[in-house]
Amino acid sequence: MEKGLEILYPPRCPFCNEVQALGGSKICRECLKGLPKRVRPFCMKCGKPIERDENEFCNNCRNRMPEFDRAYPILLYRKKVPEALARFKYKNDRQIGRILIQEVGKETMAELKRLHIDGIVPVPMYRKKEKIRGYNQAYLLAREMGRILERPVYKHYLLRTVSTVAQKDLSQGERKKNIKKAFKLGKNVVELNHILLVDDIYTTGATVSACAGVLKEAGAEKVYVTCIGIGTDIV
Ligand SMILES: [Zn+2]
Ligand SMILES: [Zn+2]
Repeated sequence: MEKGLEILYPPRCPFCNEVQALGGSKICRECLKGLPKRVRPFCMKCGKPIERDENEFCNNCRNRMPEFDRAYPILLYRKKVPEALARFKYKNDRQIGRILIQEVGKETMAELKRLHIDGIVPVPMYRKKEKIRGYNQAYLLAREMGRILERPVYKHYLLRTVSTVAQKDLSQGERKKNIKKAFKLGKNVVELNHILLVDDIYTTGATVSACAGVLKEAGAEKVYVTCIGIGTDIV
């Protein structure tokens, strides 16, 4: 952030909201220590922690193998992460995503750098919803990653054609079927071979899997996924 802005809006730890010293780390030492990082063993497909190393995949992926090639989550969606992501998503606290990527995403960014990605695509929001919220949090994350990975970001590569509100009344099974049809390719997009798909939270993976399906149908050879927080089946 610009120096002048930092004085007006002093940096706050995204997890405990304590004001931090100017120019230093934004995540306080205590919160940094307690962050739920991804540790082995984890699912070779989505990165979720698994109980036993010899299982290779989590229950979720084993039940239904996602359509992307592999996911690289930064943190687990546990402890203080859900609250920080809720503020990022709903409370207009837009810096949080950038802080998390810069300060806890280094290892993940290094992994992603080795994948030779052609372009970065955020999971799109339904247009009306984005207008009301004012921003798509997945796009903010994608933009920051694009800067670090030095790759172009394509905001309108994918479009969301069905709102999640419209899906609210559906049963879980129907919703799953519906999510497959909720995305389509944007207009006049360039062809990308290796795509990095970005979202804030990964729970069952149905959303990114549906997006990956559309991208693969359009000719993408590899679709990788990254997110800030991934849900866990085990404690
Ligand atoms: Zn803190
Ligand atoms: Zn998995």
